[in-house]
Amino acid sequence: MLIWGWRTRVYVLAMTTFLCGRCGNPASHAVRKAVTKFTLFFIPLFPIGVKYSAQCTFCGIENRISKEDAVRLQAQEEQGQAQQQGFQQSPHPSQPQGFPQPQHPSQGYQQPGQFPHQGH
Ligand SMILES: [Zn+2]
Repeated sequence: MLIWGWRTRVYVLAMTTFLCGRCGNPASHAVRKAVTKFTLFFIPLFPIGVKYSAQCTFCGIENRISKEDAVRLQAQEEQGQAQQQGFQQSPHPSQPQGFPQPQHPSQGYQQPGQFPHQGH
């Protein structure tokens, strides 16, 4: 007796933000890869289908996308993460003085650990 079937595993390739075609919101989309495998005795043997999709986290619509699109979106997200890390290192131009730097410790502004408290 043969027990066979198929099983679909879903991998989330990336979470990327773009304009949703349905709700029009610049929402995060989960770029997913669904691999359907033929199974024999519950053991996955070989893939019989691969589907790529992007699901809007705002309205929940799931769009089929091509493999090229999925790869492009995944690469875009990796680039975006690298850019965000770069932004954190450089000061933001719209917030020139968001955090005042204590220049004179005698004024009483103390950050813990930076200036050893001398005591009175
Ligand atoms: Zn949407």
